[in-house]
Amino acid sequence: MSERMTDNFPPQPSPSLDSLPFWESLKKGVLAIQRCTACKQWSFPMMERCRHCAGELTMEALSGDGTIYTYIVEHQKVAPGFDDLRPYPIALVTPKEAPHVRLPARIIGDKSIIKIGAAVRAEIADLPAGDFKVACFRLV
Ligand SMILES: [Zn+2]
Repeated sequence: MSERMTDNFPPQPSPSLDSLPFWESLKKGVLAIQRCTACKQWSFPMMERCRHCAGELTMEALSGDGTIYTYIVEHQKVAPGFDDLRPYPIALVTPKEAPHVRLPARIIGDKSIIKIGAAVRAEIADLPAGDFKVACFRLV
């Protein structure tokens, strides 16, 4: 059995046509999600039309500031590239501008201060096995 060199790196995303603009934005270092041009509601995950009014969606940058809606602490081996970080928190983050949106992300920083409602700020991290980047949120 051969072991590829990339087996210990975090997996690369496999974007769909709908999610590709989100991942391409992260490659440029920008955390952006969709926003409706008609009703101005933010939207995530990526969709073809606005879930509120069926209006047209465009990409718009978020400030990166948010709060932890809920979280877990991962103790198990669930994804290659993260074993050395265990235990590590994974949260649903509510962006400041989009109170009904939940962004799933790994939480970094001082884990002793993590709690529901804690303030976080987005950081864009490299994924070493490829060109994609991922958003993490640092406790602030
Ligand atoms: Zn809308």
